Amino acid sequence: MTVLCLTELDGADPADASLRALTLGRSLGDPSLAAVVFADSATVPASALADYGVTDVYVIEPSALEGYAPQAWARVLAGLATETGATAVLAAGTDRGNEVLAHLGAITGLPMAANCTLVTPDGGRTHRLVRHRWAGLLLEDAVMEAPVALFTVATDAVAAVPAAAAVAVQVHVHKAEVAEADLVVRATESAGQTGGVSLATARVVVGGGRGVGGADGFAPLEELADLLGGVVGVSRVVTSEGWRPHKQQVGQTGTKITPELYLACGISGAIQHIAGCAGAKHIIAINTDPGAPILAHADYAIIGDLHQVIPALVAALRAR
Ligand SMILES: Cc1cc2nc3c(=O)[nH]c(=O)nc-3n(C[C@H](O)[C@H](O)[C@H](O)COP(=O)(O)OP(=O)(O)OC[C@H]3O[C@@H](n4cnc5c(N)ncnc54)[C@H](O)[C@@H]3O)c2cc1C
Repeated sequence: MTVLCLTELDGADPADASLRALTLGRSLGDPSLAAVVFADSATVPASALADYGVTDVYVIEPSALEGYAPQAWARVLAGLATETGATAVLAAGTDRGNEVLAHLGAITGLPMAANCTLVTPDGGRTHRLVRHRWAGLLLEDAVMEAPVALFTVATDAVAAVPAAAAVAVQVHVHKAEVAEADLVVRATESAGQTGGVSLATARVVVGGGRGVGGADGFAPLEELADLLGGVVGVSRVVTSEGWRPHKQQVGQTGTKITPELYLACGISGAIQHIAGCAGAKHIIAINTDPGAPILAHADYAIIGDLHQVIPALVAALRAR
C-alpha cells in the first residue's frame, strides 16, 4: 500500500511546502511513501527525501514531459496511482498542487479535498479530514469516502518533520504516458528565480502596502529585507496597481507566509491580507493610523510614516 505525494522542488531541494505534505503523508502509516518528482533524475534530491521517510521516488524526466502542464501531470499521477495501488495521492496546497490534484479528481472521478491540516485513515475507504475553509479562517471537519483519497496539505499548518530514521530510497525513472490533449495548457517558459529565498518559506518578510505610495517606494523595503535576510511581500492593492508582481502578494488570493517576523509597512490589515500572514510568529506594524486593523494582530507597532521609519531602521542596522 502506497501513499503518493506530488513533490515540488525549490531549486535543487524539495520545496518546504512539499516536505510538509510528505510529513502528513508519512503519518497515514502506509508502508510505502512515494514522491513523484518532475525533474532530471540526475539532480533529484533522493537523500533529502529519504530523510522524510520517502521509500520510492518516481521521476518524470524533462525528456518525457517538459515544463508544467497541470492536466498531463495529473494524468501521470493517475497512472502511478493505479500502478502502485495507492491508497492516497496528495500534494502541497500550493497553486500547482491544488491545480494538479483538482485535475486528478476530474480525471478519476474521485473527490478531492484542498488545504487539509489533518488526515486520519478510518478503516477501508474512509478518511477523516480537517481542512481550511475561507482561506484558513475556519476549520472544517469532514469525512471522505473514496477508494483513493485525494487531498492537498495547507502550506502553513503542518510542520515539516524529518522521519525518526532515514529509509532506503529507490529511484524509478517513470515513463510518462500523456496524450496531446493533456498538453493544451502548458507553461513553456518561466521567469528565473531572482533570489534564493521564496516568500512562502522566508524567515523574515518585509510587507509593503498602499502606504508605500508607488512602485518607486519599494527600494528601502528591499534594502531592509536584504539586511534582515528576508524578502519583500505586498498587499493586493500593490499588485492590482502594478507596482509589484502577483507572486509577491501575501493573502487569501496570494501566498500564505509563515516567517519568524513579518514587518507590515503601510498595510491596513484587511481580513484577506491577514489570511495570508496569520501564520507569522511575530508581526510588527508600521502605520500612520493608530486605528488601523493590522494593529490588532501585531505584537508591536510603530505609529509613524514608513518613509521615515524604514530609513531609520536601515541606518540603525547598517551602524551595527
Ligand atoms: C476576494 C478578495 C480577495 C482579496 N485577497 C487579498 C489578498 O490576498 N491580499 C491582500 O493584501 N488583499 C486582498 N484583498 C484586498 C483587501 O481587501 C484590501 O483591499 C487590501 O489588503 C488593502 O491593501 P493595503 O492594506 O495595502 O491598502 P489600504 O487598505 O489602503 O491601507 C493602506 C494603509 O497604509 C497606511 N499608510 C498610508 N500612508 C502611510 C505611510 N506613509 N506610512 C505608514 N503607513 C501608511 C494607512 O494608514 C493604511 O492603514 C482581497 C479582497 C477581496 C475582495
